[in-house]
Amino acid sequence: MSEGHARLAPSSAEQWGPDRCPASIQMQEKHPGDDDGEAAREGEAAHYAATEPTPGPIAPNGVPITQEMIDHARLFRDAADGAQWVEQRLHMPMVHAECYGTPDAVRYDEAARTLEVIDYKYGHGYVDHWHNPQLLLYAMGALHELLVAVDDWRHWSVTLTIVQPRYYGAESPVRTHHITGIALQTWRVRFATAAGEALSPSARTVTGGWGRYCSALLHCEAARKMQGAALDYADTQQSGPVTPDTVGAEMTHIARALRILKDRQTALEAVAASLPRVTGWAKEPKYGRLAWNEPDEAVLALGDALGVALAAPAKPITPTQAKKLVDAAVIDAYASRPYAGVRLEPERPAEQRLGDMP
Ligand code: SF4
Repeated sequence: MSEGHARLAPSSAEQWGPDRCPASIQMQEKHPGDDDGEAAREGEAAHYAATEPTPGPIAPNGVPITQEMIDHARLFRDAADGAQWVEQRLHMPMVHAECYGTPDAVRYDEAARTLEVIDYKYGHGYVDHWHNPQLLLYAMGALHELLVAVDDWRHWSVTLTIVQPRYYGAESPVRTHHITGIALQTWRVRFATAAGEALSPSARTVTGGWGRYCSALLHCEAARKMQGAALDYADTQQSGPVTPDTVGAEMTHIARALRILKDRQTALEAVAASLPRVTGWAKEPKYGRLAWNEPDEAVLALGDALGVALAAPAKPITPTQAKKLVDAAVIDAYASRPYAGVRLEPERPAEQRLGDMP
């Protein structure tokens, strides 16, 4: 869910937390992304369907509530049954004053000194519950809200629960990790150190899987260096359980990746047209379909003069089709391809090009 304007939001602790990328906070402030993308809006609507006692047919962000969202919401409601706090803003000043956020649900028992933080994830990509940075921070915020001093955390037991209905892998869609209050104290120190480095002028960039949702991804030199290696990895054969759900989920990922890559390629080709050169690529002129230069009547008259039928039922046949009927040089005098920008082709050594020649 939205974390307001917290600089050190728990929802992005996957990127700035311990052993992750300290520079990600300042990089993303410089290069903010589209918080309102399609997936984000769908996730926001799914959260509304799950956390509102009586959700309407349209979420506040305008996205219609689907039957799938309602079905999946039951999983969250069961897991969060009895939670005292739903979408309650929590602060973590023991980590940093700029660290606060809103967990989906918190259930606690002060007498038994147990605490559970439950978060709803609507994406397909696996979210690890094990020492989940976002949930660890929420647990600290919940104990702070319950007025439990950091020194007294050691008496508590903490459970971190991820509810992810659209994850179709081998593990359960509801996954829990239990940790002791003593372990949480250790994590507090690590998060406080990470928070300090994240806001320092000398914050380091550290690449890893956490960068895939970083809005600075396209502007980050460290990530750029990693992209080639990632593509090599994507080119390997994968194996795993094959079910209608896993195939459907992977097809969704692939369709999205293809769309993103195609959009990126189109954008780069448009930019390339104005660049004097593109390193490693040759700029080849791109042309549209061969079309008649003359009006239809003139083309039909040409057919009559040549004794061939250049007429289609309603209009002339294409110049390419006409070239099969008469000398191509004649058609070339009457048809041309409109210029359509440039296409990027991989550069090949001269001897290889010669080898391609008939
Ligand atoms: S893209 Fe990766 S390395 Fe670069 S700032 Fe973001 S998280 Fe850090």
